[in-house]
Amino acid sequence: MSTLIMKFGGTSVGSAEAITRACSIIESYQNDWERLVVVVSAMRGVTDALIECADLAVQGKEAEYQSVIAQLSTNHHAVMDEIVAHEGEREQLSVQLDAYTTELDAYCRSIHVLGEVTARGMDTITSLGERMNAPLVAAALRDKGLAARAVDAAELIVTDNSFQHANPISGATRKKVNDALLPLLDENVIPVVTGFVAATEQGIVTTLGRGGSDYTASILGDSLDATEVWTWTDVDGVMTADPRIVTNAQVIPELSFSEVSELAYFGAKVLHPKTLRPIIERDIPLWVKNTFNPESVGTKVIRSSVNRKGIVTAITTIRDLSLVTVEGRGMLGIPGIAARTFAAVARQGASVLMISQASSEQSICFVIPSNTAGNVIHSIESEMELELARRDIDRVWAEPGIVILTAVGAGLRNTPGIAGRIFSALGDAGINVIAIAQGSSEYSISIVVAEQEADEAMRQIHQEVILNG
Ligand code: ADP
Ligand code: ASP
Ligand code: MG
Repeated sequence: MSTLIMKFGGTSVGSAEAITRACSIIESYQNDWERLVVVVSAMRGVTDALIECADLAVQGKEAEYQSVIAQLSTNHHAVMDEIVAHEGEREQLSVQLDAYTTELDAYCRSIHVLGEVTARGMDTITSLGERMNAPLVAAALRDKGLAARAVDAAELIVTDNSFQHANPISGATRKKVNDALLPLLDENVIPVVTGFVAATEQGIVTTLGRGGSDYTASILGDSLDATEVWTWTDVDGVMTADPRIVTNAQVIPELSFSEVSELAYFGAKVLHPKTLRPIIERDIPLWVKNTFNPESVGTKVIRSSVNRKGIVTAITTIRDLSLVTVEGRGMLGIPGIAARTFAAVARQGASVLMISQASSEQSICFVIPSNTAGNVIHSIESEMELELARRDIDRVWAEPGIVILTAVGAGLRNTPGIAGRIFSALGDAGINVIAIAQGSSEYSISIVVAEQEADEAMRQIHQEVILNG
């Protein structure tokens, strides 16, 4: 049985015009596959707006969050009016949209009263973007004469309770997905599933992390033994760098599962880093395609890719980071300082993206997401209370505005001198390298630069190690 999972990202379903386009794409492929499942993201910007609502509610800014909610409601209604002609459908959808915005309003009010929002509360709130959009897309498909039904993935994907980055439980998910979707598929109804959203075994809403709709598509692909998974986005495929920053970035026609995982892990936003996990084992090919240029071939991701010329496959960035330094002349003689430092970091649940080689043993430097920096510093300071009092450690501080740039490529393993070339290119451009590290695999080299120099650094490295070969 040939089964295709098609996922449409935020821009691809971000306006009436985009949804119309996405529907035409779905229609054009419908007859090529025995089973077709669609996954949709929230409209572009909606998840951010929902987070903003919660943040404003925490700060007690009632008028401000009310106005964001009103705007969200207006936008969804406007899109509905444009894409759904059928009167009865519109009435029903309207009621549904209003129910979601009323729900959002109620959540924000309670956050306002409590003065805080939990990770669990945040998941319930951010899930609303996809939950408002899937019914719109399903209705638009029906308007075109296709049989389609919106399905809430909270009814399909079972996860643990790691709110905001929940992990799917595959056996339970497989059962629910098959029970819910097979009857629809058997009747040639296209399920339009909310991306990003899931729920615990008890039915509490979770999400798969920002950009998680890609992951939804591959989880469904795994559960339904899909033939292929396609993610439709707003660029021509996986590229040698983010085309928004590096305008002469090129599409990579074919990549292996592990190459893509590596690129996503190091920040290539085009796919969620966990996307490949569920489909690697089943060897399901994944394609990345452009909704706004459907004729272009896109990128094919398979088990093992062709031998590509060139050493570096792509340059990626991770932003919003801080460089933490633990410094003191007395550190030299004390055993276990590094171990205790990282244990203190781990207690905050912060992930260390890179540990940089210090030139002396008088400091330990590492990079973490900026939103965890405050807690991490605090945790290290209390762990090292004695050493700080004795002045063995002078200070612990975080430098924000840090970006990690990574050159990824299997060829790096056997090619000396790439780091040197990157340094020279950056040196010639007057860009200061704060730190450098061999990545967590042998296939990457990461460097740390300041935010304001990151885009130019990216263009320089791309030119030097990709375009110049
Ligand atoms: P979607 O909403 O379709 O999931 P995203 O915004 O999550 O889209 O991801 C697509 C974006 O990823 C592109 O618009 C592009 O700016 C960015 N991007 C970053 N790195 C890359 C890369 N190496 N190749 C392609 N796109 C990239
Ligand atoms: N809407 C979610 C986000 O913006 C998930 C996604 O777009 O994949 O993060
Ligand atoms: Mg995405």
